[in-house]
Amino acid sequence: MNDCIFCKIINNEIPSEKVYSDDEIVAFKDIQPQAPTHILVIPKKHIEGADMLTPGEDTELAGRLILTAARIAEQFHLEKGYRIQTNVGEHGCQTVRHIHFHLLGGKQLN
Ligand code: 5GP
Ligand code: ZN
Repeated sequence: MNDCIFCKIINNEIPSEKVYSDDEIVAFKDIQPQAPTHILVIPKKHIEGADMLTPGEDTELAGRLILTAARIAEQFHLEKGYRIQTNVGEHGCQTVRHIHFHLLGGKQLN
């Protein structure tokens, strides 16, 4: 867990462009944006992926992550639409094993 790049971002050990933070959740701009708006929404709790969410314990947090992404989409004026996406594991092309929701928008997505 100490080697987790997103935990280091949460702890301000490596810099990031944060756009939202509360007691449970942080959101920051992706370093390699795939769309004009590309924000990552993550929990402060280190959970490796959607496959590692604990029913009950993480249920409210999982909901709050999506609700937070939708609220940030409003702040970034993505009225024409956007995508909220989470990749899981090797076949899902997940490269950082700290659960994160991509918020993508600002252009017509394929
Ligand atoms: P995944 O491929 O796991 O679904 O998404 C990981 C995302 O994290 C990628 O879009 C990648 O660009 C982003 N990323 C990786 N390292 C960093 C970093 O140090 N800072 C920021 N802001 N984004 C990162
Ligand atoms: Zn982590």
